[in-house]
Amino acid sequence: MLLKDKKAVIFGVANNKSIAYGIAKAFKDNGASIALSYPNDAIKKRVEPIAKELGADLIFPCDVSQDSEITNSAEIVKKHWGNIDVLVHAVAFANREDLQGRFIDTNRAGYATALDISSYSLVALCKAFEEIMNPGSSVMTLSYYGAQKIITHYNVMGVAKAALEACVGYLSYDLGEKDIRINAISAGPIRTLAASGIGGIALILNHMEKFTPLKRNVTIEDVGNTAVYLASDLSKSVTGEVLFVDAGYHRSGIQIEKKDEE
Ligand code: NAD
Repeated sequence: MLLKDKKAVIFGVANNKSIAYGIAKAFKDNGASIALSYPNDAIKKRVEPIAKELGADLIFPCDVSQDSEITNSAEIVKKHWGNIDVLVHAVAFANREDLQGRFIDTNRAGYATALDISSYSLVALCKAFEEIMNPGSSVMTLSYYGAQKIITHYNVMGVAKAALEACVGYLSYDLGEKDIRINAISAGPIRTLAASGIGGIALILNHMEKFTPLKRNVTIEDVGNTAVYLASDLSKSVTGEVLFVDAGYHRSGIQIEKKDEE
């Protein structure tokens, strides 16, 4: 029960395959109280039963592309709980056509959309919730290796994740003044709604099984358990960090399979 008495606000549950669902479940299993957001009525219908299943204290609307909805969501949470201890940002979006083919073809609007929803929203949420975050609070966001290396088809989302990881660094200074920590979990590829929009995701998952040190893909439970560590006081001196939960893939260099050596 590492998160006993902690109140966690979680953005990004779309269904029970979502990374945010894995995080919410691991938080509940460790004694936290949770609040879940939904961006529109279609997702609300899916989040309601999940909130019931996990015993969430509240669910509230928030499309993170709208400043007024972000402000409103902080007010709803403040009214219900007063203050919080954990904020999870597991939100990203890019137009489908920008997640395949050539990065060079990304237009201004597609670029702005991806950066707005996938990176800027972290800054806006931190600003809105800063006032109600207790000292010792923990913020976390979800990144991917495509922020640091070029991954086929990841394209504009790689640029958005690079910006996101830079935001984590800058925010760590601003929030650090209030003893609030912020970190990114860089998760290995997982089959989710968002991942299904990325061209060639099945091939990437196959590649991972061959070339990660652990010879497997990761799960939302793996990410959830790391999120518990980051939310808990066990990580009270860890901030500004990008923590990889990718079965070790980011440490791989050239890997030659034994059969090819013979
Ligand atoms: P998902 O589709 O389950 O979650 C994405 C969430 O973003 C959804 O809940 C969706 O409602 C939300 N969202 C999109 N636009 C929004 C908006 N305007 N306002 C509010 N919410 C909005 O997919 P996921 O893979 O669980 O993604 C969660 C996070 O993890 C994302 O940041 C994603 O980039 C990141 N990530 C995913 C993988 C992977 O392989 N699945 C790997 C590394 C990082």
